Amino acid sequence: MKHYDCIVVGGGLAGLTCALELTYEGKHVALLEAKDYIGGRTASWNEYGMHVESGFHRYIGYYSKMPKMLHKAGIDLNKIVTWEEQVEIRVPDQEKSVVMGVSPLFGPLKMVRGIIANHPSLTLKDKLSLLSFFIYGFKDYLLNPSKLDLVSVKQYAHLYDVSEDAINHLLIPLSAGIFFLPPQRYSAYVFFGLFAPGIPKFYKMRIGAFLGGMSEVMCNPIADRIKQLGGEIYLGEPVQSLLLSASKDRVLGIKTSKGEEIHTDDVVWATSVDIAKTVLENDFANEGWFGKLKNLKMMDASTFQIELTSPVLPKDITTFGPNTCLGSFSEQSRTTFQGSKGRLSIILTPPEKFIEMSAEQTLEYVLHDLHRLNIDINMDQVLDYRKIDHPNDFYSLAPGNEQYRPDQKTSVKGLILAGDYTRQPYFATMEGAVASGINAAKLVSNKT
Ligand SMILES: Cc1cc2nc3c(=O)[nH]c(=O)nc-3n(C[C@H](O)[C@H](O)[C@H](O)COP(=O)(O)OP(=O)(O)OC[C@H]3O[C@@H](n4cnc5c(N)ncnc54)[C@H](O)[C@@H]3O)c2cc1C
Repeated sequence: MKHYDCIVVGGGLAGLTCALELTYEGKHVALLEAKDYIGGRTASWNEYGMHVESGFHRYIGYYSKMPKMLHKAGIDLNKIVTWEEQVEIRVPDQEKSVVMGVSPLFGPLKMVRGIIANHPSLTLKDKLSLLSFFIYGFKDYLLNPSKLDLVSVKQYAHLYDVSEDAINHLLIPLSAGIFFLPPQRYSAYVFFGLFAPGIPKFYKMRIGAFLGGMSEVMCNPIADRIKQLGGEIYLGEPVQSLLLSASKDRVLGIKTSKGEEIHTDDVVWATSVDIAKTVLENDFANEGWFGKLKNLKMMDASTFQIELTSPVLPKDITTFGPNTCLGSFSEQSRTTFQGSKGRLSIILTPPEKFIEMSAEQTLEYVLHDLHRLNIDINMDQVLDYRKIDHPNDFYSLAPGNEQYRPDQKTSVKGLILAGDYTRQPYFATMEGAVASGINAAKLVSNKT
C-alpha cells in the first residue's frame, strides 16, 4: 500500500507551491490533479484544437511570494513576463480612449498624471473627489477593515461624493476589469486591499503579461522541479473523498475516483472553493471549523478567446471597456499566444450573464461591444473562438463575505486547506494562491 508524508489535492498554484516547498524539505509528496493538465485557473491547454488559457492574467509588480516561489522552481520571472508600460480605458460610443502609464520604471510622471490629472473625461471636481475617496479608502483599509468590507465600492464612492463621471470612467473599469464585477457588487475592502500593497512598493507597481501559455512557461516547469526533487504528480486523478479515523478527527489518506486508497500523514486540500465545500461537507457539515467555509459565498468567472487573421490592436496592453461586457481584454498575439496571427482574450462581465450563454451568442455580444469601443472585427477575420467558464471557482468579493474565508488549519489532525479563498493576506490572485501554498507547507512541517 502506498504511503506519503503528504498528499496535495489539486495542481493549481496553491497546490504546486505547497508541493514544491515540501519536496524542497525532502518530504515524500504526491500531488493529485483532477484534470489532464496542471495549473488550475492559471492553466493553458488545447481545447478542441485551439490553444486556450483559463483567462488572461496579469502579474502585478508588487507580488513578493510568487517571484520567490518561481525562483525556487528555477524560473526566471523576467523570462516569462514582459512588462507593460501602459493600460488603456476605452469609453464606449465615443472616440475617447484614456491611456494610463503603469510602469513607474519607464514613466513615473506619466503614471501619476495618467491616473488623476490626464483623464480627458474628468473635471477638476471629479479628480478631487477621487483623491479623498482613495486617501480615506486606504486609511480605512488599514484602520477599519471589517467596517470597510460592509460597503460596496459604489457606496463608498457615494460617501465621498465621487461624481458619476468618475465612477463611470475610472471606478467601473478598475473594478469590472480587475475582478469581473461592477462597483456596486464589489467590497470596498477588497478594492482598496488589492492596491494597498502597491503603496509602499510604488516603484514596483507595474504589470506583467505572460510570454506564453501559463502551463507551458510556468506551471509545467514548477511541476518538473517538484518531480526532480522526488515528488510525484498524477494528472487525471480526481480525489473523491478523505479517509478518516472512526471519530473523524484524524486524516488517514484519500480515496481517488477510481477507488484507489492512498495513505498519508497529511492532506493539503488545494482545490478551488466550490469543490472544497462539496467534498468536505460530506464529512464535516456540522463541525465548527467548517462553518465559515459553508457560509462563504462564491462567484463565477467567464472568459472569451478569439483567434483572428491579424492583430486588432496596435499593442498587447491591458484594456478596460467600462459599461460593456468587456471587463478587461488584450490583444495577445505578440505576448502570450505568439503562434497566433491575431488573438483577443477577454474577461466577460458580469460573469453570471455569460456563464450559461452559448459561445455563438457570446461572440455576437462581444463583437457588438467591441464595435462600441471602436474596435471593428468582421466574421471573415474570426478564425476560431472559445468560451472558457469558471462556475463558482471564486469566493465572492461582495461586501460582508471576507469574514467567512476559512483558516487554513482545521481542527482535523492532518487536514490543511490551501487556495486563494483561504484566509491569508491577499485576495483571489496568484499571489494569494502562492501565499496559501507556502503557509500550508509550514503547517505540515511544523506538525511532523
Ligand atoms: C479568468 C481569470 C483571470 C485571472 N486573472 C488574474 C490576474 O490577472 N492576476 C492574478 O494574480 N490572478 C488572476 N486570477 C486568479 C488566479 O488565477 C487564481 O487566484 C489562482 O490561480 C488560484 O489558484 P488555486 O491553486 O488557489 O486554485 P485553482 O487554480 O483553482 O486550483 C485548484 C486545482 O484543483 C483541481 N481539482 C479540483 N477538484 C479536484 C479533485 N477532486 N481532485 C484533484 N484535483 C482537483 C483543479 O482542477 C485545479 O487544478 C485569474 C483567474 C481567472 C480564472
